[in-house]
Amino acid sequence: MENFKAVLISRDENKTQSVEIATLSQDDLMEGDVTVAVDYSTLNYKDGLAISGKSPVVRRWPMIPGIDMAGRVISSQSDQFKEGDEVILNGWGTGETHLGAYSQVSRVKSDWLIHKPEGLSAAQCMGIGTAGYTSMLCVMALEKAGLTPESGPILVTGAAGGVGSVAIALLAKLGYHVIASTGRASEEDYLKSLGAAELIDREELSGPARPLNKERWAGAVDAVGSHTLANVLSMTKYGGAVAACGLAQGMDLPSSVAPFILRGVSLHGIDSVMAPKEKRLEAWSRLAELLETEKLDSITSVVNMEDVINAGNAIVEGKIRGRVIVKI
Ligand code: NDP
Repeated sequence: MENFKAVLISRDENKTQSVEIATLSQDDLMEGDVTVAVDYSTLNYKDGLAISGKSPVVRRWPMIPGIDMAGRVISSQSDQFKEGDEVILNGWGTGETHLGAYSQVSRVKSDWLIHKPEGLSAAQCMGIGTAGYTSMLCVMALEKAGLTPESGPILVTGAAGGVGSVAIALLAKLGYHVIASTGRASEEDYLKSLGAAELIDREELSGPARPLNKERWAGAVDAVGSHTLANVLSMTKYGGAVAACGLAQGMDLPSSVAPFILRGVSLHGIDSVMAPKEKRLEAWSRLAELLETEKLDSITSVVNMEDVINAGNAIVEGKIRGRVIVKI
């Protein structure tokens, strides 16, 4: 495939951004030892930020967005991968500094790729995508901090979003009592079908936090940051743990040290982009084991490459439910 289609983000001399479907050739691709025919990608919040230009996610122009890919190896100079191998990639700066996944062909470093996990199709892997794999990293962090279903309820913020939806399904499958914090009461049936036992209105957590508040949960997966994370911490039980991965409300953390020094609460930062390979392999193998296909299908919808520009703008407006697979 010498010529192929891709979504391309460009900037003019006034730094005004435009996004289009372009025809490119393999000479336009960046360095890498493996070339992949991309079958599926997915839409993450970060892809929406890149497409809409709302945050400085893109650091090289022109850029092909798309931080996740699933596809087949077309050519390889690495002894880890051979032609025809089914592979996936999450993060590593694709769609930010390295040309990304909304492209029929991609050239990447072999160190960034892993073989597609057994038991999941390429489309299902992208249904999970970075958002779902980050949820798994959050759950692994809570487990490492010593939490078990007996410790008490776990709160999930940004519940109807991608990270939140998968986190609820994973925690429920592991036997936790899950409290879903959402601004969309209309999604009650959806969130309960994923395994949420209770819902709370995100407004309860979105204003300025007191240093300590009534203890309500043993732990949390937080995709929201800002005042929400501050409130989550102030309401975490003695000895509890919170995994912070997102900033949907904001990047600030207007909190105090009170939850840490008076209740022994621990805060665990989660990064999916540069996470080491062993952690990724563990996360993907657990996702394949824990995520029920029916639940995964119920949280995913599919768009074509042509539709991803509109969908990218919608995700930053909080209008997307669950996960969106992009058919390349
Ligand atoms: P989504 O847009 O799918 O979900 C975010 C959810 O947050 C929304 O659905 C909404 O949930 C809630 N939300 C949105 N705006 C606000 C607000 N102002 N106040 C409170 N809640 C709000 O995004 P993802 O789930 O894909 O990602 C969630 C976050 O995690 C993002 O910030 C993303 O950048 C980050 N992330 C970080 C990663 C890492 O490696 N650390 C990897 C992947 C994602 P509801 O409607 O239920 O209230």
